[in-house]
Amino acid sequence: MPDTVTLLIEPVPADAVDFDLDATLREVDAAAPALRVGELSTQRGDGVFETLAVIDGHAQETGPHLERLRNSALICELPEPNLAQWRAAIDRAVSALPDDGEWALKLVLSRGVEHGPTPTAWLHAARANDFTAVRERGVAVVTLDRGYAHDAAEQAPWLLLGAKTLSYATNMAALREAHRRGADDTIFVSSDGFVMEGPTSSVILRHGDVYSTPAPSGAILHGTTQQSLFEHLAATGRATEYRDIPVAELRTADAIWLVSSVRLAVGVTRLDGTSVAVDAAETRAFNDYLRSPRD
Ligand code: PLP
Repeated sequence: MPDTVTLLIEPVPADAVDFDLDATLREVDAAAPALRVGELSTQRGDGVFETLAVIDGHAQETGPHLERLRNSALICELPEPNLAQWRAAIDRAVSALPDDGEWALKLVLSRGVEHGPTPTAWLHAARANDFTAVRERGVAVVTLDRGYAHDAAEQAPWLLLGAKTLSYATNMAALREAHRRGADDTIFVSSDGFVMEGPTSSVILRHGDVYSTPAPSGAILHGTTQQSLFEHLAATGRATEYRDIPVAELRTADAIWLVSSVRLAVGVTRLDGTSVAVDAAETRAFNDYLRSPRD
């Protein structure tokens, strides 16, 4: 069984039904050159992506990830992806992977080569980092200013907020700043004082027995893991809410989690140098649910 699977995808129009699927997917060696120098994904970060987990042979939340890929493409004015084609590519990759362990499967749709006729698309699956320890131990977090207000998406749609674009350089810079400050991760706060998200995760707070997360205003990415967890919490009788969360509420929360597709749920242990109450049992329960097969 391979350690990685990489497929180049020749995108077909969103409404195409009658096409030779096999002819549009080509497996390539991840170590060999596959992209052209003029590729706008590498030159300008001009494209969108998704990362989903494959756990014990099951691709998690494929539907929500594909819907978000479609939404990101719409925001970026890229050609609408044919979701049946992407789903088939995911199925092809998963069937080539071992049916145990955790894998990160990345989907990329870029604007292609400048003035080129079509977007470029590919899928790459590789073994996920081992997050067992951090899921148990949790993360120390610092808050960092995102540099815009929580309603910035409406004021400046060209910022493409709410789309999962390839331009993650600022998110990575924020993580480096968090590390410089002695923390593991960061929670972005808006310039007008509201909780937003992590650079690669959504934020969930618990006050008493109510779970809350920032309203998906368009300035943050609507996380598939957060949505799935909220559905699970609601289905098991817990109260969940979306709202604008003032930064001060991070201090009054009974527990805080960062959640994302591959690392899953990690508890926040420290916030800006101050200890935060951690609910290890609930974090374990969250991760048991998140590791179970989810569509
Ligand atoms: N917010 C941002 C900015 C992200 O990059 C991610 C995931 O990478 C998330 C939230 C969490 O999204 P998901 O749960 O779909 O992985």
